[in-house]
Amino acid sequence: MVNITLPDGNIKPFDNHPTGLVVAESISKALARDCVAMELDGRLVDLKKPITADARIRLITTKDKEALEILRHSAAHVMAQAVLRLYKDAKLTIGPVVEDQFYYDIDMEPISEDDFPKIEAEIKKIIKEKSPFTRREVSKKEALAFYRNEPYKLEMINDLEDGTISFYEHSDFTDLCRGPHIPHTGFIKALKLTKVSGAYWRADQNRAQLQRIYGTAFFSKQELKDYLNFIEEAKKRNHRKIGEALDLFSFHEEAPGMPFFHPKGMALWNTLIDYWRLEHNKAGYVETKTPIMLNRSLWERSGHWENYRENMYTSVIDEVEYAIKPMNCPGGMLLYNRKPHSYRDLPLRAAEIGLVHRHELSGVLSGLFRVRVFHQDDAHIFMTPDQIESEILGVLQLVERIYQTFGLGFHLELSTRPEKSIGTDQQWENATSGLVSALEAYGQDYKTNAGDGAFYGPKIDVHIRDALGRTWQCGTVQLDMSLPERFDLSYVGADNEKHRPVMIHRVIFGSIERFLGILIEHFAGRFPMWMSPVQVALLAINDELVPYAATIKTKFENAGIRVELDSRTESLNKKIREAQLNQTPLILTIGAKEKESGTLSVRTREGTVKFGVPEKEFVDTVLAHIREKKLDLNIFNA
Ligand SMILES: [Zn+2]
Ligand SMILES: [Zn+2]
Repeated sequence: MVNITLPDGNIKPFDNHPTGLVVAESISKALARDCVAMELDGRLVDLKKPITADARIRLITTKDKEALEILRHSAAHVMAQAVLRLYKDAKLTIGPVVEDQFYYDIDMEPISEDDFPKIEAEIKKIIKEKSPFTRREVSKKEALAFYRNEPYKLEMINDLEDGTISFYEHSDFTDLCRGPHIPHTGFIKALKLTKVSGAYWRADQNRAQLQRIYGTAFFSKQELKDYLNFIEEAKKRNHRKIGEALDLFSFHEEAPGMPFFHPKGMALWNTLIDYWRLEHNKAGYVETKTPIMLNRSLWERSGHWENYRENMYTSVIDEVEYAIKPMNCPGGMLLYNRKPHSYRDLPLRAAEIGLVHRHELSGVLSGLFRVRVFHQDDAHIFMTPDQIESEILGVLQLVERIYQTFGLGFHLELSTRPEKSIGTDQQWENATSGLVSALEAYGQDYKTNAGDGAFYGPKIDVHIRDALGRTWQCGTVQLDMSLPERFDLSYVGADNEKHRPVMIHRVIFGSIERFLGILIEHFAGRFPMWMSPVQVALLAINDELVPYAATIKTKFENAGIRVELDSRTESLNKKIREAQLNQTPLILTIGAKEKESGTLSVRTREGTVKFGVPEKEFVDTVLAHIREKKLDLNIFNA
């Protein structure tokens, strides 16, 4: 007899060795139909595996996020099978799941997307067969014999330790695989091949070039449809494409992974920085700036020379080694130590928009999302131990204010002490409970990632959610027990004794470059007016009206509005069209009537037009809109 403990704590006894499916059926038929696999004592296994001893199980249904991964991995087998049926000489290598897709690397003649329909048709046949996936365990010797004509599988098996090797079989197809798999191929309700590219076996340019065929799969046709719409929308919002179209930034091969910002990109950049300064001033921060190059002895002291060196750019100046900073912290520590501190000076909130360089491999560079040089909106807060809760709470409130201004939702995750860590139990207890009380005082639900903190302290990560529902980790609040030790930071307490301050690092945008990339995609380039590089486009109807339009431009600029005058001899329609494509929030057409009456014709980006708006009313309304950092453009409605 075995006792099965379910996630709700219920214990169910079974006479013999039930499979996960039997357990599911004992609960309900509907549940059994929806089950894909199970978690047996913390490990994902096939639903049909017999449970031979008392165990805790969690049934994985099509609603669980692990289920999609199992489905997609199974889909990779089915795709490989279909390819083998159509391309007799094809040789299989590996077929993993990556994010929301799967792929299989196959040694075969080059194919293109034009070949997808026939592969997909073959896949459909296999899905219809509802062939069950079966696990078979074999010895290494048997496995080598089975794959005697499959060079890649042979190589992989030879790399394995001696012992049992598992095969998964369905209909006429067998693959070397750890599993688990869906019960049968019929669970794949929707499958689409998405792209094909070249890839080298074992990522080695000297070895065979393979075809990497990508696809995705879902438990329903609707989910696939939603996913494809999402991909389409994400493509339209690609920040590199929008950055090019709106003339914001570019990359040049002379400096890979290092963005060049154009005048309009800088206008956008400066709106972020100005806003950041405003909020940080209000929140009691002081601003600092430290050099980007510091000598080796500093990096040895901070520990970066030992632990982070391969990511740092270094140089020798006057026979002394220097490194370009990958982080602002050590410089910040030097600033703190410049003079003695009293408990009365704390908390000290020292912010720095720091330019950092980190060497990333060229293969991972990705637009503004992954670069080699970026600015962090950094701050180090030095405090007494009893200020932890209120300081962290203050940071969370600032985070909320700033993200809300962009219409970004967010959630918080707490990471606690990892196995390898410095500091005493007491220090960790104080630090972690400080973070927890701040989270509780803040009052929003948060997730705990046990053991996921840095070796030098616990942290709170802030994950934002953009307009497409994608999440991005941007902000972080990190408590550090290491640097205050390494730099021997101190303050004099009320007891007249020397004490070690508690120190946190925190960023809100994170990398400003990356945050800008996220905002470009979040707004799809249609920035709220306060952020728009050009807020108002002035279009003169004919050349005679250009001088008059220029006087308006000067007036608006003096009032603090970013204006562009389009004085080209193009048709008015073309100019309007271009201003709209540039996502300019407000477009003013200047004709004889406007000049005579001193009023304005206002066309919004949304396409509404209002005539006869007095100049002063226009300026006041626009300035109020900018000041309030409104997200919508609900002004000047006709
Ligand atoms: Zn598999
Ligand atoms: Zn820091």
